[in-house]
Amino acid sequence: MASAIRLSEKGYRVRVFEKNSYPGGKLSELRLGAYRFDKGPSLFTLPELVEELKDISQKHDDSFTYTRLTEITRYFYEDGTFIRASSEPEVFASELEQKLGENRVLVLKHLKKSAFYYNTVRALFLEQSLSGVKKLFRLATLKGLLRAPRLHLFSSMHKINAARFKNPKTVQLFNRYATYNGSDPYRAPALLNLIPHLEFNLGAYLPEKGMHQITEQLYKWAKDSGVEFYFNHAVEKIILNSDRACGLLSNGETYPSDLVLSDMDMNALYKNLLPKAYSPKKLLEQEKSSSAFVFYWGIKKPFPELGLHNILFSENYKEEFRCLFEEQTPYSDPTIYINITSKYCKADAPEACENWFVMVNAPHNKHSEKIKYTDTLRKHVIEKINRVLKTNIEHLIEEEAVLDPYGIELQTSSLGGSLYGNASNSRFSAFLRHANFSKTIKGLYFAGGSVHPGGGIPLCLLSAKIVTQLIEEREK
Ligand SMILES: Cc1cc2nc3c(=O)[nH]c(=O)nc-3n(C[C@H](O)[C@H](O)[C@H](O)COP(=O)(O)OP(=O)(O)OC[C@H]3O[C@@H](n4cnc5c(N)ncnc54)[C@H](O)[C@@H]3O)c2cc1C
Repeated sequence: MASAIRLSEKGYRVRVFEKNSYPGGKLSELRLGAYRFDKGPSLFTLPELVEELKDISQKHDDSFTYTRLTEITRYFYEDGTFIRASSEPEVFASELEQKLGENRVLVLKHLKKSAFYYNTVRALFLEQSLSGVKKLFRLATLKGLLRAPRLHLFSSMHKINAARFKNPKTVQLFNRYATYNGSDPYRAPALLNLIPHLEFNLGAYLPEKGMHQITEQLYKWAKDSGVEFYFNHAVEKIILNSDRACGLLSNGETYPSDLVLSDMDMNALYKNLLPKAYSPKKLLEQEKSSSAFVFYWGIKKPFPELGLHNILFSENYKEEFRCLFEEQTPYSDPTIYINITSKYCKADAPEACENWFVMVNAPHNKHSEKIKYTDTLRKHVIEKINRVLKTNIEHLIEEEAVLDPYGIELQTSSLGGSLYGNASNSRFSAFLRHANFSKTIKGLYFAGGSVHPGGGIPLCLLSAKIVTQLIEEREK
């Protein structure tokens, strides 16, 4: 939708084909009785990327409002240790000093280093297409490459964090940021330590009506910009004329077009919509990011000890990631993330109740098969919540729905339910994402979480910006 808004405002006639009956893909919502849930993403950073779309669509629309969070996450450890991560770096550093015995100066230095990483790679990797020889010789690119030793490209995130902090709980807290793009902190490059910068220095936010408001807003601005939507229209084929994309086949009908732009998962696109001859095998065979298992629970009791974002850490983080990425099985003591938008959005749950989005990391469902471990995982999740929060949660659940990796794939076509396309476990992963255009088929372009620059809402919005620029340059 971000690409559609940008192209429509440049004068293109844009038609969006969506297989579901609703817009938003992973960023959709679920209603259960009197409860509302954001179905997928729960953390909102870089709101200026959404603001930009409002400005581009030239609509004087003040309906998109959001709050900057003063507290980001509450962390709970099995031994009773509790950390409140304030969005104020100084306050957060003091909390880690007081509760975990860390040197607060080191914590602040870590956040500064995080800013350095981000500012170095931003122009280099995140805001432009990596393809095209000319771009490799841009000044910013060269500068970035020269700084590479300071980027710790040859160390894992865990290695750098373990060397920097003395308390394993601090290491675990900062290692967690690898999961923001579905990676394994014990293998992912230390460069991913740029992620805390987004939360602590630039800010974490929540739209006034929850995350789904981003989808609603984009959908509205797109329609206002003249974009036409075709829901319940799965694309069955991209039609080629020699080596040029010239339209789509959907619901048995042909829709001719000058260009085709897709944000669907690249594995599904090559497998289902294009002849095999065009498949970039090496890119498609890369390791996939993790998936997730989500329980949506309507809870008939308020929990004042919980905030908007809460983490109940596993005791053995390394083993958890070994299971997820090596064994490809869920872990018996999973790290649990609980997101409760009703803490801010009162309409999301009835009075004195809360809407719990309970998520655990799950392995990529390699063989796209029905999930058999739901009951066991649910039992482990409930036991852990009861243990850590000293409650009996089962009796408080009055509404329930479940989304597993198989369901994620069925609903959005992401291979094996992977949340962020290819994993970022290798130091070359930035180069192992599909480009924003096809090298073999003219007029075919790509955006979204499985192509450059990567998964997650901010990067998907950046991919829309990159691909629009590419179309302007290449299709003059
Ligand atoms: C549980 C969960 C939690 C997440 N948490 C966060 C978070 O906190 N923060 C964050 O930034 N990101 C998060 N993400 C990741 C984020 O949601 C994605 O990176 C992003 O939404 C991907 O957008 P996309 O447009 O690339 O793909 P999608 O949202 O998957 O959209 C692809 C669309 O294409 C449609 N489609 C597929 N095949 C066809 C076809 N043949 N014809 C027509 N339509 C088709 C699908 O129905 C879908 O609507 C999370 C994801 C999940 C699932």
